[in-house]
Amino acid sequence: MTESTKTTEISVPLLDLQAQYAPLRADLLAAVERVMDSQHFILGQEVKALEDETASYCGTTHAIGCASGSDALLLALMALGVKAGDEVITTPYSFFATAGSIARLGATPVFVDIQADTYNLNPDLLAAAITDKTRVIMPVHLYGQCADMDAISAIAEQAGIPIVEDAAQAIGAEDRGRRAGSMSAVGCFSYYPSKNLGGLGDGGMMSTSDDTIAHKLRILRVHGAETKYRHSAVGINSRLDAIQAAALRVKFPRLDNWSAKRQSNALRYFDLFKEMELSHLVTVPFVRPDVRHIFNQFVIRVDAAKRDGLIAYLGTRKIGVDVYYPIPLHLQECFSYLGYGVGDFPESERAALETIALPVYPELSEEQQTHVVSCIREFL
Ligand SMILES: *Cc1c(COP(=O)(O)O)cnc(C)c1O
Repeated sequence: MTESTKTTEISVPLLDLQAQYAPLRADLLAAVERVMDSQHFILGQEVKALEDETASYCGTTHAIGCASGSDALLLALMALGVKAGDEVITTPYSFFATAGSIARLGATPVFVDIQADTYNLNPDLLAAAITDKTRVIMPVHLYGQCADMDAISAIAEQAGIPIVEDAAQAIGAEDRGRRAGSMSAVGCFSYYPSKNLGGLGDGGMMSTSDDTIAHKLRILRVHGAETKYRHSAVGINSRLDAIQAAALRVKFPRLDNWSAKRQSNALRYFDLFKEMELSHLVTVPFVRPDVRHIFNQFVIRVDAAKRDGLIAYLGTRKIGVDVYYPIPLHLQECFSYLGYGVGDFPESERAALETIALPVYPELSEEQQTHVVSCIREFL
């Protein structure tokens, strides 16, 4: 390659928030201004409106805002009475907050390995992990595709154990016509800026159709106060800011369009990997039948021996990629006390060594995608 073609080469970031921001700038500034002028910053009308819009979007009777997706998980477990000594079953292949929320309550994360194709909790391994201490089962809808909720729910129901969905990456995803966050006791969402619906900072939401749980979540996020200065439980401070809610309400009506664009980008990658005859070297995401996958991430698998070299090469070609996640949770230093070791969850460990997330954000162009796949072919 000559110097001149190198300098004109297009770059492809993993995520381009500027591209989403530019057309919304005026609306977002007006929303922030509205909150500033009201001088009402915590909960209030904006948050209530976003909660109502979210409940109706997810198909639940309630939605309750909080400070982050991590807090949503924590509050959900608190509302279900999880305490020291209890066990909560989850996947070792997720963002840290999934298991972190369990450990913060003094409960024990009990890991169940993932399916090789979907990267989600393997229902076939679930029953064997249930003990008389299991209080909650917490599947994650990883990368924007729901875990197999029929299979998981059947086992959970039989054992009489509630489910909490970590739907942080999956707002709007569906499993057999049901929305993420509506298939369990509590669904937990994140508005971290890299999620499909991202705020201007941290924020979270919980969905439920159980009135009692909704009430508990509402008081737990304000230090357990039933009314001002009367505390029926020890909660935490975890509220959604009015500025976040106002900004999210500007973006929310565009979410389905963005998710559809992510889906069509994913389909275009499927075609490109086939056209460029890479199917024997690159495993593209598996989409379960009868689901709506919203592609928060587009994650491919390559030979572990080539993975890090490919990442480095794509870096030199100005293509942003990342690994979600390079160290499974059972091998994190802070969880060494759980006594897990290498080899305990082979599919999670293999995924950590073989996967790469490629850019899939809605504004990605065909030219950029072709460039990404061409560069992958060059290296492989
Ligand atoms: C982003 C994320 C969270 C945490 O959300 P925050 O809002 O960043 O606290 C939890 N679980 C998963 C799977 C996530 O991707």
